[in-house]
Amino acid sequence: MKVKQKVLRLLLGDQLNAGHSWFSKTDSNVIYLMAEMRQETDYTRHHIQKVAGFFAAMRAFAEELKHQGHTVISHRITSAQAKLTLPELLLQTIRENNITRFEYQLPDEWRLDTQLKDFCKSLSIPFSSHDTEHFLSDRDDLRNLFPGNRKPLMETFYRKMRVKTGVLMMSDGKTPEGGKWNYDAENRKAWKGKPAVPVLQLPVNNVSEIVAEIKKAGVDCFGEIDPVGFQWPVTRQQSLRLLGEFCDHSLAYFGMYQDAMHTDESFLFHSRLSFALNTKMISPTEVVTHALRAYENSNGVISLAQTEGFIRQIIGWREYARGIYWGWMPEFAQLNFLGHQRKLPSWFWTGETKMNCMSHAIKQSLQHAYAHHIQRLMVTGNFMLLAGIHPDEADAWYLGIYIDAIEWVEMPNTRGMSQFADGGIVGTKPYVSSANYINKMSNYCGTCFYDHQKRHGEKACPFNSLYWNFYDRHRDVFEKNPRIGMMYQLLNKMPSSEKADTIEYAEKLLEDLEVL
Ligand code: FAD
Ligand code: SF4
Repeated sequence: MKVKQKVLRLLLGDQLNAGHSWFSKTDSNVIYLMAEMRQETDYTRHHIQKVAGFFAAMRAFAEELKHQGHTVISHRITSAQAKLTLPELLLQTIRENNITRFEYQLPDEWRLDTQLKDFCKSLSIPFSSHDTEHFLSDRDDLRNLFPGNRKPLMETFYRKMRVKTGVLMMSDGKTPEGGKWNYDAENRKAWKGKPAVPVLQLPVNNVSEIVAEIKKAGVDCFGEIDPVGFQWPVTRQQSLRLLGEFCDHSLAYFGMYQDAMHTDESFLFHSRLSFALNTKMISPTEVVTHALRAYENSNGVISLAQTEGFIRQIIGWREYARGIYWGWMPEFAQLNFLGHQRKLPSWFWTGETKMNCMSHAIKQSLQHAYAHHIQRLMVTGNFMLLAGIHPDEADAWYLGIYIDAIEWVEMPNTRGMSQFADGGIVGTKPYVSSANYINKMSNYCGTCFYDHQKRHGEKACPFNSLYWNFYDRHRDVFEKNPRIGMMYQLLNKMPSSEKADTIEYAEKLLEDLEVL
């Protein structure tokens, strides 16, 4: 007689996909394991909202599985098991429950992927790994699309994804709806108080018990939290409601004000869906389907340009980031193309700087564990790159502070897109700007201590001199780049005394970033 297997299935904190085929039927011989672990809270220093958000979502997911009749073992951060490493915990669980087979879903992070592969090598029982059934592309799709050292252009990948998914495509399956692939040129306006930013109905969660346990366990977190009014979705239902709210109220203006920044509005028309997506409480297919339905039923209120702008983020940038991560790791994590070595000034952890744009973006991040893409790219990231901050420091900051930060998506954005530490795998040129761009896209400069029009001298905006200093000190790398050549023409034409004063001012700033 065949003996029934007793199966242990591991669920990581970002594998909360209720639609996974694992859960299609209950089986008393299958045990699911979910654990809040010190190895996850301590591998970098996280924002308190990130840790609380993950634990709240994990606990709700475990309850839901139990409610459906699945057997779940879960461990809280205060438990003795929380201190074990993942292999130690797995081994203990396998022994205590007489497990005869181990199964896990493929982790999205290299660190955990390696840890589990190594663990399985030492196992004496059968094991298998399974797809998370979340993404629209495979780990190695991007690498296969660009074999060798060919530059993996996001736009090429995105068009392939449009054809593959049939999203916003004509019936021939080859022509993009509306005749264009990309409506960027119609987007990217500054926001000056109108149209009104919708007040979305957000979830209100009480995470005080979790916060108390995180503190009791001695986990070292930073940032602010309102434990009784936690507004990030922690269940699938809450995530779907947020998606609905976004589609009904914000999608109509998403692309248009995607790059805008304003001191009064932290979220503007952005979706705040990254946490729900990255924990897999909702899928990219669901997000795209809802957005398309809203567009089609809107009687023209939501334009094709806005819809395409949003869908590009989901089936383009998000999948592309994952493709970069899996195609270029583990080497990617070590890249420092520009040889930057500086440490982050301490005000990155407080927001106490006289630079209004930086102060606002950082304080908002500490308050909400959130900043939108352009704040991350063209304010904090821009400053780090201009100031020559080591990409490890940049990675650690972004990985810790944002609720949506998981390495597979954080690192390609930070080390690649934002810091150009990959030498141009993700971006064809560095994303740097002077105060001009920040002033155009925000209301930050108007009330700043610094003067956005000055390059040097009293109260001159640091972004201006650091910008020219950056191009000057990396002339050998960028001068021949056709997308940047014009900046060198401008730099070359700058009167020599103006140039000398600008560079000297920047060098003085770089000597002590703490005082900015
Ligand atoms: P929206 O603006 O509403 O966009 C919708 C969705 O599109 C997002 O939820 C996200 O899932 C996806 N998306 C948009 N842009 C990107 C992108 N560049 N890469 C991948 N997905 C994208 N995103 C993360 O999810 N985790 C991170 O750790 C992260 N770190 C970043 C670090 C830097 C330096 C930069 C420049 C960007 C980073 N991003 C990261 C991308 C982007 O900033 C966030 O996804 C976005 O701000 C999340 O807010 P939202 O949900 O309101 O997004
Ligand atoms: Fe930022 Fe400079 Fe504008 Fe101040 S003047 S907000 S430092 S860009």
